[in-house]
Amino acid sequence: MIDQATIEKIHDAAEIVDVVQDFVTLKKRGTNYLGLCPFHNEKTPSFIVSPAKGIFKCFGCGKGGNSVNFIMEHEHLIYTDALRYLARKFNIPIAEKEETAEDQRLRDERESLMIVSDFAGKYFSQILHNDNEGRSIGLSYFRQRGVRDDIIQKFELGYCPDRKDAFTQAAQRQGYRMEFLEKTGLTIRRDDWVRDRFGGRIIFPVHNLAGRVIAFGGRTLKNDSNTAKYLNSPESDIYHKSQVLYGLFHAKREITRKDKCFLVEGYVDVLAMHQAGIENVVASSGTSLTVEQIRLIKRFTNNVTILYDGDAAGIKASLRGIDLVLEQGLHVKVLLLPDGHDPDSFSRTISSSQLIKYIDENESDFIKFKTKLLLRTTQNDPVERARLVSNIVQSISVIPDVIIRSEYIRECSSLLDVNEEILYQEIRKLKQKETETHYNKTVREHNAKPAPTANTSPASVNLFDAEEKAILRLLIKYWDFHLFEEEINPNETQIIKVGEYVFQELEGDDFVSSNPIYQKMIDEFKTYGWEPGFDCQRYFTNHPDSKICQLATNLLAEKYIESVRWQKNGSWMETEEEILFTLVPKSIEEYKLRKAMVLEHDILKEMQAAQSDHNEDKIIELQMKWMNLKQVVKILSESLGRRAITR
Ligand SMILES: [Zn+2]
Repeated sequence: MIDQATIEKIHDAAEIVDVVQDFVTLKKRGTNYLGLCPFHNEKTPSFIVSPAKGIFKCFGCGKGGNSVNFIMEHEHLIYTDALRYLARKFNIPIAEKEETAEDQRLRDERESLMIVSDFAGKYFSQILHNDNEGRSIGLSYFRQRGVRDDIIQKFELGYCPDRKDAFTQAAQRQGYRMEFLEKTGLTIRRDDWVRDRFGGRIIFPVHNLAGRVIAFGGRTLKNDSNTAKYLNSPESDIYHKSQVLYGLFHAKREITRKDKCFLVEGYVDVLAMHQAGIENVVASSGTSLTVEQIRLIKRFTNNVTILYDGDAAGIKASLRGIDLVLEQGLHVKVLLLPDGHDPDSFSRTISSSQLIKYIDENESDFIKFKTKLLLRTTQNDPVERARLVSNIVQSISVIPDVIIRSEYIRECSSLLDVNEEILYQEIRKLKQKETETHYNKTVREHNAKPAPTANTSPASVNLFDAEEKAILRLLIKYWDFHLFEEEINPNETQIIKVGEYVFQELEGDDFVSSNPIYQKMIDEFKTYGWEPGFDCQRYFTNHPDSKICQLATNLLAEKYIESVRWQKNGSWMETEEEILFTLVPKSIEEYKLRKAMVLEHDILKEMQAAQSDHNEDKIIELQMKWMNLKQVVKILSESLGRRAITR
């Protein structure tokens, strides 16, 4: 139990920006902070934190609340445990009463697994330092490898005695239940025997982002070919290995500060880098790199340097890693260590400053890396060389950002002395192949479905009515409002107003409406809106055309629907003006998405016609168009934080 006075103290101390910043990189935007939402997958930030109000709110998925709510949601904690978490973080003492077996039973299961893991971590660490076997085998191993005491402390390294079920018995004596010991995989039980999973191994506790122990890695110290060198905790309710990066808890602040993350292979590599003073480092231990892990890094930085062994397996792993990281839109550099070295062994041959210098001088972007690597094996064989080019093109083709892609093409072209146009052609071919597969599937699905209503309705129906109206409403209400401040150079910022932004954004998409009244309004915004002193509300509500007058009045009177939803959801109250910076781009993206989807649908229809005419040229032309649209829909849907909907 925590008394009310302490709860209030915790609430007062738990500064929302400090709390959220442990998990999300925030940028200042006016009086608020803005970042990528940790609760849903998005590319443009719609997650804001208001230090003045002490709350966070995501305008993509709707989650919001105060510091305690954030921790409950993010760490999957119950209320009192979220309070305990914050008390620990802000050094507020809580007089906790002794926990009874009954209390333990009442906690939810995840929490029970965490508590058992926490106990195990402390036990292993205590054995390493105080037990005879722990000291003579475990601790002496670390000493022999030159692992410093502060690193052993920092990563809470430990040792599990090689005595059948010594740990399990100790845990049970302390009242921890067999059920949770088994579920965390710490104990293995069969019909007639029980033993500790990690017996005779040194222990690397795996922490979640909040710093709680959720799993373990154990390394055997025996030279026995029948024993796996590394053993990890099995998957459990608190540990999904594809979603965890070893060392991220200890690295996240430094990753944000340096705006860069080193990716290594193993536990000891992380320790070695820390020991050398490089703390922005994580490992994908126990699994080959996954998309979820990359997204985790992306919360803190867009820059990744892959640092793998110089041996064949290491090279293969880094090549696979590169494409995955590129696909998620991050910038990738690669650093191969001298042959036969991993970060751990290499760092022991040189000083810290030499290691830092080596990294600075030798990390290269992935094209240089791949080229150098593959040229080594291909020499001057023309067939091999062609294979090398297509291999690099494959990597470039997965980069989602068109601009970055073209930069890489330029670089690849000059490095390999291949015409840029040829590279573009190669990429188009790859994309086309990918699209064809996808296309065939979609057509099949499409044919199976009844035609959507958009198809059968008369031409006079405005398919974009809702989206156009939403934009017009924002224009008439906020034409002159300051939307962003953009930095032109370090000494000069430019203010972007709502009207300017909207028409800039829609320039390429011809913002025309099939509704003549909407169209007239759009035209007049464009014609008169830039005149000094233009009072748009007055202008349109007093318009000689009564239909425009009516529309303007209706738009101005329209309730701001979303704010009602937010109010219902929680304690959030935000005026529309305060969140224009997310509302305006969002309504433009919705409009663009709607347009692209309708167009996509039309093209599919045309394509079916072309197919029954066996018009191959037309089919290819339409496929290219369709492929581009598909990309646009994908990017916009992701940015809006949802899957494409087909209305
Ligand atoms: Zn969200």
